[in-house]
Amino acid sequence: MAGLEDLYKEIIIDHHRSPRNRGELPTPPATRTEGFNPLCGDEIVVYVDVDESGTIVDMKVGGQGCSISQASASMMSAAVKGKTMEEARELMADFKAMLSIGDTADAEPVDEATQVRRMGDMVALKGVMRFPARIKCATLSWNTLEQAFAERAED
Ligand code: ZN
Repeated sequence: MAGLEDLYKEIIIDHHRSPRNRGELPTPPATRTEGFNPLCGDEIVVYVDVDESGTIVDMKVGGQGCSISQASASMMSAAVKGKTMEEARELMADFKAMLSIGDTADAEPVDEATQVRRMGDMVALKGVMRFPARIKCATLSWNTLEQAFAERAED
């Protein structure tokens, strides 16, 4: 019988083999932001097209690296496309709280079912928490997206 660990592994493998929203977007209107994790050699390129109301109307991801970094980018793109920047930031905070990093002081403890409902496939990366060296792989795409939002605000 397949346990939860196996299921999570399957989800990560699926996103690694069939990455969602892989590709490029024309710039402009999209912005292009690169992220790099020197500890592992992961690269993520985020193309994000945000409309005037702050909604992420389209998003593509490029880059290369380990399965955790690429699967996380795929999951992120699927999760934030169509959402507002504000909603994407909330999801990023939830994701980091799940990995017990960032500002978790105000985070309420949540049970597995709630976490799955909030995080969807991203809950599969929860096991990364036990491997501190891989946390940067899992958060690279989110940090790159955050940088993309920041660069957009400077325009
Ligand atoms: Zn990595």
